[in-house]
Amino acid sequence: MAAIDHVPLLDLTRTDSEQLDALRAAFDRVLCSGRYIMGPEVDGLEAECAALLGCKHAIGVSSGTDALLAALMALCVGPGDEVICPTYTFFATAGTIWRTGAKPVFVDSDPVTYNCVPEQIEAAITDRTRAIMPVHLFGQCADMDPIVAIGQKHGIPVVEDAAQAISARYGDRCAGTIGVFGCFSFFPSKNLGCLGDGGLVTTNDDEHARIARAMRNHGMEPKYHHHFVGGNFRIDALQAALLRIKLPHLAPATAGRRRNAQLYTEAFAAHGVASDSPTAVPPDRIGLPVAVRDHIYNQFVIRTPRREALREFLASRKIGHEVYYPVPMHMQECFRTLGHAAGQFPVAERAAAETLALPVFPELSEAEVAYVADAVAAFCKGA
Ligand SMILES: *Cc1c(COP(=O)(O)O)cnc(C)c1O
Repeated sequence: MAAIDHVPLLDLTRTDSEQLDALRAAFDRVLCSGRYIMGPEVDGLEAECAALLGCKHAIGVSSGTDALLAALMALCVGPGDEVICPTYTFFATAGTIWRTGAKPVFVDSDPVTYNCVPEQIEAAITDRTRAIMPVHLFGQCADMDPIVAIGQKHGIPVVEDAAQAISARYGDRCAGTIGVFGCFSFFPSKNLGCLGDGGLVTTNDDEHARIARAMRNHGMEPKYHHHFVGGNFRIDALQAALLRIKLPHLAPATAGRRRNAQLYTEAFAAHGVASDSPTAVPPDRIGLPVAVRDHIYNQFVIRTPRREALREFLASRKIGHEVYYPVPMHMQECFRTLGHAAGQFPVAERAAAETLALPVFPELSEAEVAYVADAVAAFCKGA
């Protein structure tokens, strides 16, 4: 076997030939069916996702972003309203709040899990708050029990941004089945990805499901009758069919991600470069992700105060890596009218400056993980 001289952050072409054949057959099935919008593939995907996640309703939509938008629209969030979300997240969380006309109200993150902090959510509630939107960042659930309790106490629905956390557990429940709505993404880099864009809205409430279903199809119910304005948030039948092939492979893929995370953890310990503190990391060490809860490692995110130097070092060894996310939402140009300033959310700002994602996708070989771990260790020892 050739010596390893590079490792990609993600390689979506390493699908085994059996699954490739099944995907091609699914494509043919849809092609020859003539049903490209809604229909049996979408129905099938929805039933299978509901069974996988253990929820009553699963509604296929056009992306994770549209899942969030449809959920907020189904809750009638609009101008004059406020929605609480973390500042350290992917843009869609805050962007969809903004697009409803509501104001995103940001909260800081926990320094260990990077998820939002329940006490800060409660402190941010006003009489305009219409929803609370925690994000299960990198594949680990936010602390949902206190968040749901806060929502119930104040009569505010919780919408889970579970885009990075499909099948991650919080106790005996799955991410996205705990709040009023759960929102998932099938973007190719997510743990369950399609061959384009796709998403899912979940709920256990019949009435919320009915409205969300109508919302994805222009608020239409019955045909050509519109009680409210929705959008075209439908998932393609083709993507649904492809996802149904990939769905049974999610559990082994998640196991592969966990194995890789474990291999990294063992390798960094063996090299003596793992920091004792996940938050206050010295220059010759790295902080490792801490699984306070079940973690599905959509990203394996380490931290170092010398992040930019580590990036250069990894690039020189052709190791893929990425910063999720370099600019927290309160510092984004498009939200400048909210009037935030640097220093307002110190934990998020430090995470944005220090964190780095390493390759963790399930098809990585042990040798590739070792190549990455050795490089990171060499960087630490050169400090
Ligand atoms: C990926 C992602 C989204 C958006 O999903 P898309 O399918 O890309 O629209 C939303 N929130 C978070 C946290 C994400 O990671």
